[in-house]
Amino acid sequence: MKTTKSRANFKIAQLAIPGGVNSPVRAFRSVGGDPLFIKKAKGATVEDVDGNTFIDYVLSWGPMILGHANPGVLKAIIKAAQQGTSYGAPCQAETDLANVIIQAVPSIEQVRLVNSGTEAVMSAIRLARAYTKRDKILKFDGCYHGHADHLLVKAGSGIATLGIPDTPGVPKDFARHTLTAPFNDIVATEKLIHKHAKDLAAIIVEPVAGNMGVIPPTDEFLPWLRMITQKYEIVLIFDEVITGFRVHFGGAQALYKVLPDLTCLGKIIGGGLPIGAYGGRKDIMQMIAPAGPVYQAGTLSGNPVAVAAGLETLRQLKKPGVYKELEKKSKTLAEGLGESAKAAKIPYYQTRVGSMLGGFFTEGPVTDYTSAKKSNTVQYGKFFHGMLKKGVYLAPSQFEAMLLSTTHSDSMIKQTISAARNVFKIL
Ligand SMILES: *Cc1c(COP(=O)(O)O)cnc(C)c1O
Repeated sequence: MKTTKSRANFKIAQLAIPGGVNSPVRAFRSVGGDPLFIKKAKGATVEDVDGNTFIDYVLSWGPMILGHANPGVLKAIIKAAQQGTSYGAPCQAETDLANVIIQAVPSIEQVRLVNSGTEAVMSAIRLARAYTKRDKILKFDGCYHGHADHLLVKAGSGIATLGIPDTPGVPKDFARHTLTAPFNDIVATEKLIHKHAKDLAAIIVEPVAGNMGVIPPTDEFLPWLRMITQKYEIVLIFDEVITGFRVHFGGAQALYKVLPDLTCLGKIIGGGLPIGAYGGRKDIMQMIAPAGPVYQAGTLSGNPVAVAAGLETLRQLKKPGVYKELEKKSKTLAEGLGESAKAAKIPYYQTRVGSMLGGFFTEGPVTDYTSAKKSNTVQYGKFFHGMLKKGVYLAPSQFEAMLLSTTHSDSMIKQTISAARNVFKIL
């Protein structure tokens, strides 16, 4: 595979941009080698600057559930842009997107649009603290909630990949308010809650963990979190930035039928343009300025072009059969990968919720960050590069999800499984 141009691009990029990338996981640090520079993308494929094309299972880390350059989304973006790209004043489309979100996501009664998932989570936590008049929050090891100061504690993929335990630049006084417990561990979580109940503003969780590989919740975990947070009047926040409109049109909360107080969204709701949102119970949301005293603002929030891309994406996702089809293809792929690993006698633990797939290079079971970290990351790196050479672009980290779009065809899935069968054999 020729990568001359990507390598040249990367050299130049590193002079101008720290590490040559604008987000750390894009660099191939954990799998070795240099990142590919992408020239264009269409449907389920991306093409790099050297002219290599790949079946893409990263999908910009989640947003591109309809595949790249969806014609309807492009049309909506162009139409919106022609009316001006930002007003700094309200427009109808913002209310339209808010209403689509409210109708789709069971626990959301009101919603505020922001510009990224990070911003959504940061704002939801501020709101929960204001609402409860408490300072502490509890998160789960290996869950990622964006890069806000108080959330960069045991924060999953990007950090796991780079091996930064707790990032410099975060004051101890901030991190001090963040408690962490193992994902899926009711006993450990309960202990922490009992000890800190009076100070706990919020418990935040990815209902399906997607930033330490993909780890589904146990049957008891989310219902128990709902029960215990209600008991101690702690705000329960679901970070559905990945799972929202991915595992179900109404997010993981619709799939598992557990309703949080607040929900964070991002990725898919912007159709590939920058966006985020947080919403939930009206009595809590009414505390946000200008309705209430909790300040949160944004020059580009509710940007008409991003909103148009999001609205069109959600319109297409709402069509009957979309999630059924995604489920079918994802199941075929997951089973194919699992069987290929087994045939090659490679320890491999396959997880999946809808079109989110995890493949851990370990015997398993993988239920939390500790068990995820038992994975053989060197072997994953070899698998990653083997697949790349066969035209399959996976996330350049063991601790990321493999994602499908509606444009991944049956033949692409077949091709991916057959590539995996060959690569597993030579590991
Ligand atoms: C991607 C992600 C975020 C951060 O969103 P950005 O738009 O990258 O700021 C937060 N939480 C989860 C669960 C995510 O997957």
